[in-house]
Amino acid sequence: MKRNLNFPKYVSIQTTSFCNARCVFCPNEETRNLFPVRIMDRGLFHKIIDECSEYENIERIILYLNNEPLTDPHLVERINYAKEKVPWASVHILSNGSLLTDDLSDNLINSRLDWIGFSIHGVTKKTFEAAMGLDYDSTFQRVLRFIDRAKEKRNSKDFIMITFLRHAYLTLEEKEAAIKFWSDKGIERISYFDGPISRAGNVKNLPKVRHRKTQGCSTIWATEMIHIVENGDVVFCCMDWRREVVLGNINKQDIHEVWNSQLYDVMRDRRDGRRESGESFICKRCEAAISSVQQVEVMNAFTEKLKVGSYPKRCLSKFILLSCIFACALFYSSYFWLFKKLRGKLILGGS
Ligand code: SF4
Repeated sequence: MKRNLNFPKYVSIQTTSFCNARCVFCPNEETRNLFPVRIMDRGLFHKIIDECSEYENIERIILYLNNEPLTDPHLVERINYAKEKVPWASVHILSNGSLLTDDLSDNLINSRLDWIGFSIHGVTKKTFEAAMGLDYDSTFQRVLRFIDRAKEKRNSKDFIMITFLRHAYLTLEEKEAAIKFWSDKGIERISYFDGPISRAGNVKNLPKVRHRKTQGCSTIWATEMIHIVENGDVVFCCMDWRREVVLGNINKQDIHEVWNSQLYDVMRDRRDGRRESGESFICKRCEAAISSVQQVEVMNAFTEKLKVGSYPKRCLSKFILLSCIFACALFYSSYFWLFKKLRGKLILGGS
């Protein structure tokens, strides 16, 4: 067993390249046709896990990456293999829950999975379906049944997490309603992210950033996590939906070799601003980059078009406030102009 600080603490593995949802804040819609739908080979998966089992500093094995993990027919087997080989690491997944069947739910609950997160971006049918493109009735029925079943065998406080983010269809009232809804179901791990991001410009309809120079990355995954997609390619990070920066391939190399390669170091240098990078370098388009100068380049009409949600409400209140200020200014300037005129006339009339 090695303790090697030149090895990632977190390993994120894309065991399938497919997602069945169509979330409005996700690059999936634009990128899903770029690569074939594939399931990772068992041999490759075992190679990754076997190497991880040699390092005691591995803390997490994350069996999803820009995909829906329940589309992997071998998921439960992989969870058990990972946990058996690397019992000190936390093994977890994040799913939209729509593909859960009773059998799969039982298999997951009875597996060695440490925890599962459900990404559920609304609690009303209208919001959920508009945001995720999934069927509300069947997904909620499946997730709620999973929660009930899990409570019988697992400590649901640790085992289940619900996560959602602010998006154009989610009102502030629904955000609060969602927190209450899941709390009432006994869920304690509820994670809310305050806003969608373009994920390095990969979501067409979201505002994009462009940094002139990057000085690092604000996320933990930049320095501590390796990201391996279904064909074994190591991509720079989970923002890299288009596989723009491929650093090696685990079919031909091992994780340690890629993680410590010269190419990886060059990319780290570019990310951290120690080396020049081209205008289109992924970190220069990423909201998570640390930059001294940041400029919002594109404000897409996406959020403005929508009739519900917090953005239009905010726009409306800003508009009302500015209108009030403008009306007051107009009233007082007219008043003073009239007063001056009348006073002139009164003085002239009196003399
Ligand atoms: S700044 Fe670069 S490394 Fe960090 S999340 Fe964005 S694209 Fe990834």
